[in-house]
Amino acid sequence: MKKILIIEDEPSIRELVNYNLKVNGYEVLEAGDGNVGMDMVYSEKPDLILLDIMLPGKDGFEICRELRNAGIKTPIIMLTAKNEETDKVRGLDFGADDYISKPFGIREMMARIKAVLRRYDVADIPGISPETETNSHTITVGDLVIDPDRYVVTEGGKEIEFTLKEFELLRFLAENRGHVFTRDEILDKVWGIDYVGETRTVDVHIRHLRKKLSQGDEDKYIETIRGKGYKIK
Ligand code: CA
Repeated sequence: MKKILIIEDEPSIRELVNYNLKVNGYEVLEAGDGNVGMDMVYSEKPDLILLDIMLPGKDGFEICRELRNAGIKTPIIMLTAKNEETDKVRGLDFGADDYISKPFGIREMMARIKAVLRRYDVADIPGISPETETNSHTITVGDLVIDPDRYVVTEGGKEIEFTLKEFELLRFLAENRGHVFTRDEILDKVWGIDYVGETRTVDVHIRHLRKKLSQGDEDKYIETIRGKGYKIK
């Protein structure tokens, strides 16, 4: 279900829009203040924003400009009150996708929303909202499935809990399956070049991984190459 955020300080308009969007199958969020609305863009990640211009807290022009400057590409339809505002939206590039002049009809509003959403779906522009890219690059090693997007590892369908570093170590080795890495290389790649630690750190984490994987069947996935380092078989 697409989520639409309406930022508008006039309760009667919010109510009217909210009702009609819900009837048409959208999830609706409301904000009556610019600052609150801005926060909700980040916390709620709507699929589209209906944005009034004259608002308490922060006006619609500012909100639009700040979101675009922050690289947020969520489609925005401005709700303009007077001819003057309409001219301004037309004449200046605030990064809005469309505008609707008040008073507007519900049918017109629905048509604009559908058109803008369709345009975005086709263009597949990555905003902050889409739940895309899940499962697109899971890594499989035997019974192990590593999902880098969700930080989840399963073995034979059962989830295994790892610390962040254990997870990153496992992912790194799995991504480079078959390749042998020295402890120094692993420290560098997984812990970062600035990490001041001993190579023993790697051994400790490998031990933890092995203990959690396959009930401690030591060499099932991770192989120790004597005098060199580790690899995933
Ligand atoms: Ca207003």
